Amino acid sequence: MAGLLQGHIAAVTGGGSGIGQGICQAYGREGARVIVLDANLEGANETVGLVTAAGGKASAVKLDVTDRQACRAAAAEIARSGNISILVNNAGINRRNPITGDAAAVTKDWDDILSINLDGVFNVTHAFLDQLRASRGRIVNIGSIQSFVHVSWPNSAAYTTSKHGVLGFTRALAAELGKDGVRVNAIGPGLIETRINAEARARNPDMVAMVMRHTPLNRAGKPEDIAGPAVFLASDMSAYVTGSIIMADGGFRTV
Ligand code: NAP
Repeated sequence: MAGLLQGHIAAVTGGGSGIGQGICQAYGREGARVIVLDANLEGANETVGLVTAAGGKASAVKLDVTDRQACRAAAAEIARSGNISILVNNAGINRRNPITGDAAAVTKDWDDILSINLDGVFNVTHAFLDQLRASRGRIVNIGSIQSFVHVSWPNSAAYTTSKHGVLGFTRALAAELGKDGVRVNAIGPGLIETRINAEARARNPDMVAMVMRHTPLNRAGKPEDIAGPAVFLASDMSAYVTGSIIMADGGFRTV
């Protein structure tokens, strides 16, 4: 049976780890040719190995999403072997420090988080825009519970701001690119067990307990919990869905 993404070329930023790696594996299984973009080439190569071992097609490109010129160069190089039709803006970082803390640290957090989580989304999207318009493509941005709320997640002004920005960008692009047949949506993961939060989970069990009290499904998520919504939003099954965010958070925002 043909996969849901047969014939598609998908680029996934931050595809070398965690949620991005899970999405790459699912896209490969559904028949897309996957281009794993990551600042961490070792991780990207690991993902390529996982996709190809399962019978899929994938290649790795080292890319720092904060480097606008490098994003343009990578997009131009990738176009030589075909326009992408799916872009997943997934690369991201998180640090939790109170805004009232050390000024230098707070300022660095702000600069680093906004430049990767928000400017990076713009840089990559803009670099691939012509390809996505030509292929009437689909963009999937990775937001967060923190695209909406902050009170339960203290000490993360920069991250919350970046993820609100991701949702705003998603909606603005959906409105602007609909006429070109490009759909733009987001996914809002809850607590997903990946490297981004491994240290926080180990050091701060109270944080995990707080999240679980807010999670009717009563478990943390795994990268594959995000892969399903990511396949849906990239496939024709969501042909009339744009400007939306699918929360894959175990129900966090309902309680
Ligand atoms: P992860 O396991 O740390 O994966 C993030 C990947 O992005 C890593 O491979 C990382 O490379 C890469 N990356 C970091 N900076 C980059 C840059 N400047 N350019 C290109 N690649 C870069 O984290 P994850 O949990 O899968 O996170 C993926 C996305 O989901 C992020 O946007 C995150 O905010 C979002 N999210 C995660 C959760 C969660 O609970 N895990 C919840 C909500 C939203 P390095 O190995 O070099 O760091």
